Amino acid sequence: MMENKIELKECKVYVACLACYNEGKLQGQWMTADELDVAWESDWVNDVLVNGEYRDERILCDADAIDCHDEWAIHDYDMEGLVLGEHPDIPDLIALMHLIDEDPDYVYAAALLHSFNGGDYNPDTVMQVKEAMGSYTCRSEWARELCEDMWHAELDALPAFISGTIDWDWVGQQLEYDYYTYEVGNRTYYIHTGEI
Ligand SMILES: [Zn+2]
Repeated sequence: MMENKIELKECKVYVACLACYNEGKLQGQWMTADELDVAWESDWVNDVLVNGEYRDERILCDADAIDCHDEWAIHDYDMEGLVLGEHPDIPDLIALMHLIDEDPDYVYAAALLHSFNGGDYNPDTVMQVKEAMGSYTCRSEWARELCEDMWHAELDALPAFISGTIDWDWVGQQLEYDYYTYEVGNRTYYIHTGEI
């Protein structure tokens, strides 16, 4: 039997030159984490060998390297739906892209974190969230299992004609007040508010 292989594509962001943008033309580059890292470290300027001589060339646009075209804005994200605004912290963004390239579950951790703490996507916090988060596709099952863990003896003591009438989806709705949640498709990722 053939193994089902999921084609993983690397995260990419579109970095635009802000000076060009303000002049009414869109120039920029789609970059992977590694490409962004190199561009960031070199202030968006590449050393390029032309006719045996090294020349500085802008990475984001074709303006001369001595022109003030060194401001940037992230205008698009190709990160499994994750969007972190026009001016994210670039080193944090690079680290997060690396994490997601390693394990797509980090997308859900980052999206979960972003949904209740807009703007904070510090990679260390994202890693904490990934460790502490859970997910379910059926809220009533999630609620029942959670309650059976917490109130095992109490639930066991109830006669079946009472325990059998519990509306576990409703219970799940009540429990969710203590959780941050992020829904994607039919799956809900959650983390207890006390855990973060
Ligand atoms: Zn420019």
